Amino acid sequence: LTRMYAPLTALANARVEIMSALVSFERVFEVLDLEPLIADRPGATAVPGADRGVAVRFDDVSFAYPAADKVSLASLEEVAQLDSRGGAEVLHRVDLDVPAGSMVALVGSSGAGKSTIAALATRLYDVDSGAVTLNGADVRDLTAASVHATVGLVTQDGHLFHDTVRANLALARPGASDDELWSALERARLEQLVRALPNGLDTVVGERGYRLSGGERQRLTIARLLLARPAVVILDEATAHLDSTSEAAVAEALAEALVGRTSLVIAHRLSTIRAADQIVVLEDGRVAERGDHHSLLERGGRYAELYRTQFAPA
Ligand code: ADP
Ligand code: MG
Repeated sequence: LTRMYAPLTALANARVEIMSALVSFERVFEVLDLEPLIADRPGATAVPGADRGVAVRFDDVSFAYPAADKVSLASLEEVAQLDSRGGAEVLHRVDLDVPAGSMVALVGSSGAGKSTIAALATRLYDVDSGAVTLNGADVRDLTAASVHATVGLVTQDGHLFHDTVRANLALARPGASDDELWSALERARLEQLVRALPNGLDTVVGERGYRLSGGERQRLTIARLLLARPAVVILDEATAHLDSTSEAAVAEALAEALVGRTSLVIAHRLSTIRAADQIVVLEDGRVAERGDHHSLLERGGRYAELYRTQFAPA
């Protein structure tokens, strides 16, 4: 079964990854010649009031990844994971409030459900109960194109198309001028590298082209984010591949990209966590604690423990 489905599975996986990499929604499906995973409802609308900032809420959300026996053509990525994971509920009655313009840091141990929350906020899956809303509108009543233009997700594996640097960037904003491209590259600390490439912006990157390192790919993803400027930014361990020098530089670029936006940051670095307006601690798919750094430390609970074992400066 796995072998039979392998090519389709690869495509389904590619789809999720590519969408995560913050590229134009329509263009992805154009490239892959696929139907969107989740079809728009009749009468679906755009995110209301998106030009005035966007609030993200999870209201009593429970979610299980589709079980293997329910796998349809629409969720073939699950076929690759015909283990016991599918079917069990991974989020239990989660409430999350990210007011427009604020930054919420999501922390918790591996497997707690952080990446699942990121996926639901961009509607890569639909919830089983409760609702995810953008400015109060249920994402299931919105067009997928509008949701993806509003909510940008950056994961640790910056996905690139086998195409030029220019084409990879233009996905975020078709018609951007060269000046705009260079400015985004400069802010993502990639300008010098791209200037030194054999064909500059027109150098083909990717598997069979010029091989960028993990950190460079990630910075190219960040340059895309800077070009796309979505109202909501979700960062899932977005600086995981960077060495400490480029991490500091990129963290600065990212901080710049987040100014005035709504952000949900899955964070490991103490500086990011402390900068957040609110910290939400997730444990086994449930919100265990929430508050600011000092009040959570004082409580001496799960956050204090995570802080001691993961975030505290050595
Ligand atoms: P975190 O990002 O906090 O490490 P995840 O959201 O990735 O946690 O995972 C939460 C739970 O969901 C884990 O038990 C994990 O095994 C499970 N899970 C993650 N992705 C899938 C998937 N595609 N199919 C089935 N189960 C999954
Ligand atoms: Mg994760």
